[in-house]
Amino acid sequence: MSKGRQANVSATIPMQKTTLPLDKDHPLLFERVSPGATAASIPDSDVPAFDRAAAIDSEYLAGEGPDLPEIGEMDLVRHYTRLAHRVFSVDANFYPLGSCTMKYNPRVNEIAAAMPRFADLHPYQYESDTQGILELLYRLRGFLQEISGLSEVTLQPSAGAAGEMTGLMIINAYHRSRGEKRRKVLAPASAHGTNPATCAMCARDVCQIKTKPDGRVDLDDLRANVDEHTAALMITNPNTVGVFDEQIEIIADILHDAGAQLYLDGANMNAMLGIARPGDFGVDVMHFNTHKTFSTPHGGGGPGAGPVGVADHLRPFLPVPQVIQRDDGTFGWDYDREKSIGKVRSFYGQTGVLIRAYAYIRALGSDGLLNVSRKAVLSANYLAACLKERFHLPFPAPYAHEFILVPKFDGAKVTELDVAKRLIDFGIHPPTMSWPIAHCLMIEPTETESLPTLDEFVEAMLTIADEIEHDPETVHAAPHTTPVARMDEVAASRKPNVQWKQ
Ligand SMILES: *Cc1c(COP(=O)(O)O)cnc(C)c1O
Repeated sequence: MSKGRQANVSATIPMQKTTLPLDKDHPLLFERVSPGATAASIPDSDVPAFDRAAAIDSEYLAGEGPDLPEIGEMDLVRHYTRLAHRVFSVDANFYPLGSCTMKYNPRVNEIAAAMPRFADLHPYQYESDTQGILELLYRLRGFLQEISGLSEVTLQPSAGAAGEMTGLMIINAYHRSRGEKRRKVLAPASAHGTNPATCAMCARDVCQIKTKPDGRVDLDDLRANVDEHTAALMITNPNTVGVFDEQIEIIADILHDAGAQLYLDGANMNAMLGIARPGDFGVDVMHFNTHKTFSTPHGGGGPGAGPVGVADHLRPFLPVPQVIQRDDGTFGWDYDREKSIGKVRSFYGQTGVLIRAYAYIRALGSDGLLNVSRKAVLSANYLAACLKERFHLPFPAPYAHEFILVPKFDGAKVTELDVAKRLIDFGIHPPTMSWPIAHCLMIEPTETESLPTLDEFVEAMLTIADEIEHDPETVHAAPHTTPVARMDEVAASRKPNVQWKQ
């Protein structure tokens, strides 16, 4: 642990690390007006003045101009720059948000995606004009097939949840093609919220499967619930409590013996690249979140891409069009798939995100991807080992790319929300909270954080553990370093009030 850093993280409410002072009382633009000032300088018009009232009926004319703030360019730039510095981001802060894989996004990917010959393409251009992007997408499809060990991948779904829906539609189409109506989809209690939502979208019924105290699937409960009505099991492995379920092949057999399919929620492949392949352990369908595993700035709703891989018997049901290489070596779109579930989004997928994934995979190569997973696993297990004395770790190590811990509250008037908020004062983004078990924090460091950053996090967490014991009020009242502390988050999201009141 870096002792030099210790001084920064004292119990005396450390300041957030930021390059600008956080002034809580920074005025709104409307409160800063200097009459007559403007941030634009437009030359005098040489077009003859024209009588608005004569040309446009008075009922359509505004009485006066809009009430815009009068402010100079410098003040305007500073205002927005200050606001930008208040934004929490992967670029500025450690972001151990479990399940979300908030890793560094290499700038070279951004350069690739922004290249005018990619960025300015139009989806209606001819195949003959767009061989470059088609080849890139075809190759990416191949990489994802190789990484997953599955027969064929579609790049069309626009995010993880869209991938889940595509996967379940494929499974439904498969059962229907065999004259079977299977409505039941099994999912462990710890499933990501999008899994049951997908089932609802696809008019399937979810049946929860128990997990054992070590976080693995309870096989007896699984056997008791699999029947001729079961369409699939949707499982996340490594699961949301951070452990890899080694029973996965047995699980696959139980499902297949009953004619059901195994769906892997592969949103977080960060622990598995080059180590294990879902196709090799019995998975029939999976989705990737390229924006998590293969980098792309994400969060706040987008952008993403959720390619779906399927085993051989499900290939006929994949969405159209599929990017292919023709016999003459050229690349193109294939619409010729009789049993296809059709399109799942407009045109061909979230191409800009797919370019980033391609650039990321090409830059690292197979050794680099293996290294990603080894480091992601090492980082998570390092943090868990450093914190296990002062926090409850409800599930036994080793962990995959993330782990769950529960603060030892010991009667202190402090909750996991308070701990998460207190981390903000240390310049660390709050981890995922209160899911998949009560009172927990879910921590995913990813492979891109350096040892000093991981140590700073450990120091912050140990300081908070001390505070819970000796100074719970400081934790309970956190954050202390932000313009506003605790908001009604539900109301802020459902009924945002962005109006300026005079
Ligand atoms: C993020 C995530 C999803 C959903 O992905 P989106 O791209 O946000 O739709 C699904 N499952 C798991 C396990 C995830 O972590």
